[in-house]
Amino acid sequence: MEDFDVIVVGGGPAGMIAAGHAAEYGRRVLLLEKNPTPGKKLELSGGGRCNITNGEFDQREFLSNYGEYAKFLFSPFSRFAARDTFELFESLGLPLYITEDRKRAFPETDNAADVTKALRRYMQEFKVECRFSTPVKGLLVEDGKVTGVRTPGGPIRSESVILATGGSSYKETGSTGEAFQWLEKIGHTVIAATPDIVPLKVKEQWVKDLSGTALDPMRITFTAVDGRSVVRQGKILFTHFGISGPLILNSAHEVKKLLKQGPVHAVIDLYPKLEIHELDRRVLEAFDGNKNKIVRNVTRQLVPSGMAKTLNANLPEALLDKKVNVVTQEERKQLARTIKGLPLTVTGTMGYDWAVVCDGGIPLEEVDTRTMASRLHPNVFITGDMLNISRPSGGFSLQLCWTTGFVAGENA
Ligand SMILES: Cc1cc2nc3c(=O)[nH]c(=O)nc-3n(C[C@H](O)[C@H](O)[C@H](O)COP(=O)(O)OP(=O)(O)OC[C@H]3O[C@@H](n4cnc5c(N)ncnc54)[C@H](O)[C@@H]3O)c2cc1C
Repeated sequence: MEDFDVIVVGGGPAGMIAAGHAAEYGRRVLLLEKNPTPGKKLELSGGGRCNITNGEFDQREFLSNYGEYAKFLFSPFSRFAARDTFELFESLGLPLYITEDRKRAFPETDNAADVTKALRRYMQEFKVECRFSTPVKGLLVEDGKVTGVRTPGGPIRSESVILATGGSSYKETGSTGEAFQWLEKIGHTVIAATPDIVPLKVKEQWVKDLSGTALDPMRITFTAVDGRSVVRQGKILFTHFGISGPLILNSAHEVKKLLKQGPVHAVIDLYPKLEIHELDRRVLEAFDGNKNKIVRNVTRQLVPSGMAKTLNANLPEALLDKKVNVVTQEERKQLARTIKGLPLTVTGTMGYDWAVVCDGGIPLEEVDTRTMASRLHPNVFITGDMLNISRPSGGFSLQLCWTTGFVAGENA
């Protein structure tokens, strides 16, 4: 039977860095990937540009993005954090830069495929043996101890196994989640996955008619059946199925909780910076300049471009057909209130196929995050999207891969 020091299952970002780093210590490392090439999801990241990490170098500030999970991450981040990601990729010939937009960091070439290439160079330099088109079928367990993996070509032994098979989103990239069952079999808990950074489905047709339109700034308030609400402000993107954009993707984690009770009522405030009386003054000015027109034909001047049809659809016909010079003060207020409260109904998330990441996976309590080793099987290491850590977009997912992969590689 073949024998290695370390087997890494999964050739995504976490697996590649883990393999490269373990091999730096002179270990004989085998990486097994079921796709014909590694890094399929990585190459989709950041719209093909790869938001590789975040340029927030204050560790506490950086870790605050992981909320309740941060306390588990101080140790691995003290070993490998965002600054180390910059240094590693620079040393691999791929310098990074930071944008003004939320300090998101990208490779200077703006090309995610270059990140895979850099990691392949890293693995090659330290002689990692890579086998592609090789789906691992399970762990090799002998006398209750993990001693390697099972592949279609037969079992392969190793001292340590690093699992880096990803989460459950975008399954067509290869992350189909079977390794969770392997871990369950050897005693781990697996928290059921739900789509996390994900667009939202909306019932109203007007939203879909605005597909491609972005509004910035606006405020959206999501309210559950029991009255609990979540408020977010920023840019919203209308799509053919509902709403998206970074603001919505990063609200999905909270909205998902509200959706447990049924459809979520949401309202969009098109002018969050204006009080209702200030908006009323604007309406009055627009009416003053258009005395002989009916309301329907003036609303275009009151809302961002493309939104007049939507506003009209949310106003009573009787008001729309009135000449502006006979509109009452109360009707004007109603108009302003509608502009600050366009209703829509969120019916769900767009699911796994659209989720940038999923939450769920292996709870951090079951992993020694100083080494990324399983607390039940100290020679099994768990990394990247397999871990139950929710986080926002902005490079925080890939940094988790770099950190947990590096630390696992170091300790395997
Ligand atoms: C569209 C999109 C855009 C994204 N953009 C960003 C971004 O800009 N910034 C950011 O930080 N994050 C982004 N993410 C998230 C980021 O891509 C993931 O967090 C990251 O890829 C997870 O890496 P991983 O190594 O844990 O797993 P994955 O990248 O999922 O890799 C797992 C690998 O394991 C392989 N595998 C699975 N099972 C087996 C098996 N049985 N045998 C052999 N191989 C197996 C898979 O084929 C796959 O190659 C994005 C995600 C998506 C879907």
